[in-house]
Amino acid sequence: MSGKSINIAIDGPAGAGKSTIAKAAAKAFGFIYVDTGALYRAVAYYALSRGRDVSNAEAVESLLRDITPELKYMNGEQRVFLNGEDVSDKIRTPEVSMGASAVSAIPRVRDFLFDLQKKIAAENNVVMDGRDIGTVVLPDADVKIFLTASPEERARRRHKELTEKGQTVAFEEVLEDVNRRDYNDIHRDIAPLKQAEDAVLCDTTDADLQGAVDMLVNIISGKLNAKEC
Ligand code: C5P
Repeated sequence: MSGKSINIAIDGPAGAGKSTIAKAAAKAFGFIYVDTGALYRAVAYYALSRGRDVSNAEAVESLLRDITPELKYMNGEQRVFLNGEDVSDKIRTPEVSMGASAVSAIPRVRDFLFDLQKKIAAENNVVMDGRDIGTVVLPDADVKIFLTASPEERARRRHKELTEKGQTVAFEEVLEDVNRRDYNDIHRDIAPLKQAEDAVLCDTTDADLQGAVDMLVNIISGKLNAKEC
């Protein structure tokens, strides 16, 4: 594997704890953690802030030429910049979540973000998380993992995360959002959410955070060691 960066692809549905779990696993290996959902969120945030209908492909496409998204790493943390402004915190609202799900179904939006994701993975050892990383963005990834948990457990985790950030949202609303986003992500025509054939399934419904991180780290080390042999 020398000379080439090591790429770990983590895909799975909304709220599986991918970001927290994948971030901890990346740290264990000293790799950069890349949250690709943040890029779709940045596009949605921009469209919403311009009053555009995020489900209208033409309305969103016409904005792409005005958007320069960037991922920067500060103290090991990913920050998302939009035209030079750090929008990392602003993109974490339920409205932007639903908007991201909508804009991610637009082919030109996916094309627009593709090169940036490829470039980061080519230049760094990464744990990259998203929906289509193992299937579309990094089909030759060294390790592919499909990380999931039941919809109820995912909604419970997301609800806890939002509450801890001081946002007041009803659990039922979060569960509804999780189910709606699953449906959108699985049923869209382009790059739908699905497990790559060569991905390892990792179901964390019954695991606590440390347990889930351990599961992921074990899968990654096992696969990387096997490749080295
Ligand atoms: O991962 P996160 O929930 O932040 O992603 C926001 C939305 O962006 C998802 O619901 C999904 O529709 C979209 N997405 C995608 N492909 C990726 C990452 C995210 O379509 N690689």
